[in-house]
Formats: sequence, structure tokens, C-alpha cells
Amino acid sequence: MKRSLKSKPDLNTLYEGIVNGDRVILGKAITLMESVLREDIEIASLLLEQILPHTGKALRVGITGIPGVGKSTFIEALGKNIVDDGKRLAVLSIDPSSSLTRGSILGDKTRMEKLSKEPRAFIRPSSTAMTLGGVAARTRECMLLCEAADYNVIIVETVGVGQSETAVRNMVDFFLLLMLSGAGDELQGIKKGIMELADGIVITKADGNNLDAARNARNVFAHALHFINVPASSWETQVLTASAHTGMGVGEVWRMIQRFHEQSRLLGYLEESRMVQSVAWFKDYFSELLHTDLYKAGSFKELERKLESDVAGAKLSARAAAEKLMIAYHEMIRKNDSRL
Ligand code: GDP
Repeated sequence: MKRSLKSKPDLNTLYEGIVNGDRVILGKAITLMESVLREDIEIASLLLEQILPHTGKALRVGITGIPGVGKSTFIEALGKNIVDDGKRLAVLSIDPSSSLTRGSILGDKTRMEKLSKEPRAFIRPSSTAMTLGGVAARTRECMLLCEAADYNVIIVETVGVGQSETAVRNMVDFFLLLMLSGAGDELQGIKKGIMELADGIVITKADGNNLDAARNARNVFAHALHFINVPASSWETQVLTASAHTGMGVGEVWRMIQRFHEQSRLLGYLEESRMVQSVAWFKDYFSELLHTDLYKAGSFKELERKLESDVAGAKLSARAAAEKLMIAYHEMIRKNDSRL
């Protein structure tokens, strides 16, 4: 206990450090959020409560795209525009697969090397929590910490592939989809659902021999978007081309994001969508807590596995199995209650 107090900053040091924009303390606070130790979880909760009044002021941007589309190169270029504009930028990543590869996607190559040297930029790779829900929850908390540390723009990047796009969409104001121009059918391989989530689409690597293909792709996407419903914000999804290598179009992307921010603030859409997101976060957190609590007792998991094999072997109906599990759950709660 004493050792951990000595090596970890206390609540007050964390709070003061964060609101004063101390990057080292911010890094430590993020590590604390990712900890699964009971004592750390308690401090993390208290810290989140304390910093809450300092949050909510940043522009939150999500960026997604398949591996190789040029996300990290593009974020470096976009980030440079943002910091040159006098803003403080934090870049966070969501990568649910990093728990399997032990973070190697981010660890093996130095990503965003130039941006990480900018004093006004703070870059933090994904946490290694196990589930997507867990990773998303930690990323949201990190976002709040960065806001309290006075970062004006937060970029949340999806690194892994899979369901993380929706998780990121639900925590940001503006969602940007990066796409490659390709030979043949431009829409091939793109989940239409992801296009529907996007506020902006950027065709990357619009340079050299690829420039014409990128312009064509932009037209194809702009056309395809006509068939997608206009979102509640009344913001029409824009399609742009950009090259992180030559810098062409990158400033335009930043201006598009700012225009969206201005418009959604004026129309009240920003406030409304954040309200909806907060309620969704609350429900997600509760499900996560419930889930953790449920499986705390190893016997519950054991029973679940047994019932699973009974159902698979047609020894028990799915309904009867679910009811048995529910009875075991109630029994667990009753036992816990009697200990109080
Ligand atoms: P990520 O996996 O989506 O993060 O992609 P990276 O940023 O690592 O980029 C993948 C590859 O595309 C790298 O070899 C980059 O050099 C290249 N690349 C990224 N942006 C551009 C660009 O604007 N133009 C060109 N020609 N290549 C690019």
C-alpha cells in the first residue's frame, strides 16, 4: 500500500497536474484509468468526478479507415494544420485487437513521429483492455482527461478493424472516413453502414499517378451519398481528396471540420448529440459494471459453460438454460445481500 502511494501520484497531484496541462501527469492519469487494481479504480472514479467541470469544450473528431489507407500519415499532416492554428491537439487510438497482439500494431513502428515532437500535441496509443466495450470506455475517459488538460481538439483514431467504428462514432462530434481510390468498383469492400456514419470522407493519397483516380473516386462517392439519408444535423456529408505527402487538400479537411463544428453549435445539434451520447455512455458503463460483477464469481462462468454444452447437445432447451442461469444469478445476489 505504502509502495503504491509512493510510486503513484495522489488524487490532488493528479487533479492539479491535469488542469495545469502537465503532460507527464496526464500520461500517469491515463495509465491509472487503464488499471484494473481496485485502489486505482477508486482514485480514477474520484478523479473523473473532479475534472468533469473542466470537460466538454474540445472539438472531438473520429478518424477511421482500413489499415494502409494512410491514417497515421494523414493525422500527422492534419495535426500539423491544427497545431499551427494555435490549437492543442490530443490523438487517442482505439484498437481492440491490441490486447491480442499485445499492442504490437502501435508498438512496432513509430507512428506520428513528427507530431509527437510538437509541444502542443499529445499522442497516446490504445489501452490494452480486453473487450471493445472496455477499450471504448477507457478511450472516453482519456478524452475527458485530455479536455480537462485543455486540449482543444481530440482525434480518436480507430486502428483495428471491426466494430470499433461505431464505438468511435458514438464518442465524437465529427466522424471522418478515409478511403483509397482503387481500380474498378470504388464502393467495393466498403460497408455502406460506415458511409452512413461519416460526416466527411477523404480520398487519401491524391498525388502523383493517383491524382486522377482520387478525383474520380471523389465523384463516385459524392454520387453514392445522394442515396443516403441526410442525418439529423442537416449537415451534408462532404467528400474531399487529400495527399498527406504533398499536403494538398489537408487544410481544406481541417476547414471542413471547423465549418461543421460552427454549424452544429449554432443549430444546437452539437449539444443535442452530446446529450444523447452521455446517456448512451451511462448505459454502456452500467452494462460493463454488470458484466464484470456477474463474472466475478468463477462458478457463474462455469455454470454458463455447462449450460452452453447442454444446449449445444440438445439436452436442454435454450429457454430452460437461460432461466437456470437467471436463478443462479438471483441466488448470487441474495448471498451477497445477506453478507451486507
Ligand atoms: P495506416 O495503416 O492507415 O495508418 O497507414 P499509414 O499512414 O501507415 O500509411 C500506409 C502507407 O501509405 C505508407 O507507406 C505511407 O507512406 C503511404 N501514404 C500515406 N499517405 C500517403 C499520401 O498522401 N500519398 C502517398 N503517395 N502515399 C501515402
